[in-house]
Formats: sequence, C-alpha cells, structure tokens
Amino acid sequence: MAVIDARVMRSVLEHLWDQHPSDCRHWFNDIEAVDMDGGTIRFLVQEPVQLRYLQRHCTDQFTEATQVATGRLLGIEFITPKDLVNHTPSNDVVTGTSIQTEHEGGMLLSPDYTFESFVVGPDNRLAHAAASAVAQQPGRAYNPFFVHGSVGLGKTHLLQAICQQSMRNNPDMRIYYTSCNAFMNQFLEAVQDGDMGSFRHRFRNYDLLVVDDIHDLSKRDTSQEEFFHTFNTLYQGGRQVVLSSDAPPNEIPDLEERLTSRFGCGLVANIERPCYETRVSIVKSKAALRSLELPDDVAGYIAARIDTNIREIEGAITKIQTMAMLDGIDIDLALTKKSIGNQVKLNGPAQLTIQDILDTVSGYYGLKLTDLLSKRRHKSVSLPRQIGMYLARKHTRFSLGEIGGYFGGRDHTTVMHAVRSIDGRRTGDNHLDQDINQLESVLLED
Ligand code: ADP
Ligand code: MG
Repeated sequence: MAVIDARVMRSVLEHLWDQHPSDCRHWFNDIEAVDMDGGTIRFLVQEPVQLRYLQRHCTDQFTEATQVATGRLLGIEFITPKDLVNHTPSNDVVTGTSIQTEHEGGMLLSPDYTFESFVVGPDNRLAHAAASAVAQQPGRAYNPFFVHGSVGLGKTHLLQAICQQSMRNNPDMRIYYTSCNAFMNQFLEAVQDGDMGSFRHRFRNYDLLVVDDIHDLSKRDTSQEEFFHTFNTLYQGGRQVVLSSDAPPNEIPDLEERLTSRFGCGLVANIERPCYETRVSIVKSKAALRSLELPDDVAGYIAARIDTNIREIEGAITKIQTMAMLDGIDIDLALTKKSIGNQVKLNGPAQLTIQDILDTVSGYYGLKLTDLLSKRRHKSVSLPRQIGMYLARKHTRFSLGEIGGYFGGRDHTTVMHAVRSIDGRRTGDNHLDQDINQLESVLLED
C-alpha cells in the first residue's frame, strides 16, 4: 500500500475546480488521497452523504483529474473514516450511516441540504426553527412535524437537513428518509411478495421516519391504511415522524379523515415564497457551496429574475459559472445578463397573468369568459375551467385561493381538486394532453 504525495491531491483538486466547477463543493478541499493499492487510489471524506455524492456524481471527474495529476489511469475509490478502521464494509443495518445504501427505494440525501446552507427568512422562519428543534430532540419537540408549501421552496432541503443533523448528533439512530411514492412502491412490492411481516417490522422500527411529499398518498386507499398503522406505531412509541406536503393536512384531497387529524396533531408549519432579500441570500449560499463568490449586483440580478421556484437558482448559477469558465473571465453583471438575461422561461411563466390564461382558454374552447367564471357545471364548461386552473397553478405564482378568486370566486379546495384531476388525467388521456400542450405553447411563447 503506497502513501500518496500531498501534491497529487492538490493537483487533482486544481483540475476539478478548473474543469468541473459546478460539480465541486467547498468541502472538496478537505478530501484526502490516503493511499494507493493495486492501481486504485482511495479518497477519504468525512461524511457518508459526501461519500454518496462523490460516488454518484463525480467518479468520472476524479478518474480524469487523477490521470492528469499522476499521468496514470487509476481506479478510484471513495471512503469514509469508518473504512479506514474497518477494511471490510459493514452491513450493519441499524446505524444511521447506512441509511442510504440500506433500502433501494429510499432516496439519497444530498450533502448540499444541510441546516448550514439553509437560509432563514421571514417566509420560512417557523418551519426552520421547528425543523431544527426536531433534529435536536427527535420525538420530543414536535411530533409529527408537518411542513407544507409549494414546489421548490425548500421542503426537501429542510427534511434532509433534519436527517443529517440527527445522524451527526446520534450516529446510532435508525433514520429513514423516503419519498411517499417510494414508500408506496415498497409497500406494494411487499404485498406482492407476500412479505408484509418484514416490511412492517422495518418501518415500525425507525427512530426517525421522514416521508417527503406525503400528498401523494391521496387516492391510495391501501397505502393510506398501511401508512396509518406505521404512523401510529411509531408515534405511540415516541418515535419522530416528519412529513412534507404541497398543502396543509386538511387540504390534501382524498385523504382519510383519521390521517388528516393525525398529521395535524403535532406542529404544522408553512413555507411561503421567499422575499427578495431571502432570495439574494439563497443565491449567495448556493454560490458559497461551490466556493464561488458572486458580486452583490450579480446575486441581486439573479434573485430578481428568479422568484417563483428557488430550484431554478441552481441552474442559473451553473449556467453563469460555465459561461465564465468557457470565456475564461470572472463573473460580473454583464456576463450574468448574457447567460440568463434572455432565458424566457426563467422569467416568462412568472409574468403570465391569470387574465392571459382565462383569455387563451376561453378562446381555444370557443367559450365566453363569463362561462368560465359562471357556476355552470356542464362538462363543456367545467373541463376548460379546470384546465385553466391547472395552467394558472402551474405557470403563475398565485396561491390556490387567489386562483379560485379569479375563476369566479371558488375556494382553494376546488382549485386543488381541479389541478390534481387534470394532472392525473393528462397522462392517460392523449386528447386532453394535446389540448394542454397547445394551450401551453400559446401561453409560453415569447
Ligand atoms: P421542495 O422540496 O419544497 O420542492 P427543495 O427543498 O427541493 O424544494 O428546494 C429547491 C431548491 O431550492 C434546493 O436547491 C434548495 O436547496 C433550495 N432552497 C429552497 N429554500 C432554500 C433556503 N431557504 N435556503 C437555501 N436553499 C433553499
Ligand atoms: Mg421536495
């Protein structure tokens, strides 16, 4: 086993930051090249989530960088301190560090989603405070903890931060993070395999169960039943349950009343769309993860252009970073404008008004505007109306209640029902899907 010269690691890192900056994270600078054995070089990272990130996203990049640094084509292995002590990988199912490899259906945690990188603002203060209390005192602070808000506002980020913090506080804790769909798939598989016993045993033995996007339970009767029992067992045993959803418990359609009331019995926190100042800080936090310092005017420009879905910020930063790299220049406002300034979609849908949608939909179906807004329930009117609500939800930043207001004073549950119904039918109904594609292309063209 050969020890590696420190210069090798430096030059590997240099190559990575230079050639693959958007894959790099600030903690890359702490990675060590520990040793080499039989043509394989081993890189040591501190956290299991970092390990998974490298394994999933960076193997090719490290192979390339190592080849450049050493002049040899070497195998790459990423390891954590545990592997240094214990050379054979352990199969211990119950430790927190094994949670991600343990179950195929479980989602991987992103090392980017920690409390440190989560920006707190007036729009998410309660959700953040509660999440951090839950991570400190699982099962005792708020149970269940239920966080809701629309897409891209940081629910998954918070949920994963809870897992990572709890894992750090207590490495022996049995933690499981899953999307609701993955939970249901595992459940259905267990049913098919006639293996419900072990499924139940597993799910009812976690100290912390985190289920993302629990609204997906709606309309799934048997899964709801199973989740109800899992929930009760955990809850009664004083274990922590954390859930996220796009709506508060009582607004998730087709959810059994007993689940609605269970979900609401701990703490329910809402995440709102972030204000401009929060968005500027999020842009900076995202850049800092990549060791990128953005001038204030650049961060401000990005924050101003992206206000609906925070997820788009990352794409924008990647784009700007890549442009800067290709042109070999520093990031400044001019470059930023050039990179994302003409990106219609970043901004376009946000500027779409509900009036545009009402006009386009009524025109397309040959209806009068007053028909769309009326109380008439005939299918020739109600379907276009539902499609209009669906489009408004998808392409504007208005809340369900606001959209209901525009569509003839309907309440938010009507809008939510419409959105889900169209969304669900779109996959199976080609005719409907074509209509919506047509409408979207009219609405979204510049
Ligand atoms: P959701 O699960 O609510 O749809 P995500 O948690 O996936 O949203 O967040 C989308 C993106 O926005 C992620 O990259 C996340 O890190 C980022 N993000 C959202 N809110 C914040 C915040 N307050 N601070 C830092 N990043 C945030
Ligand atoms: Mg999410």
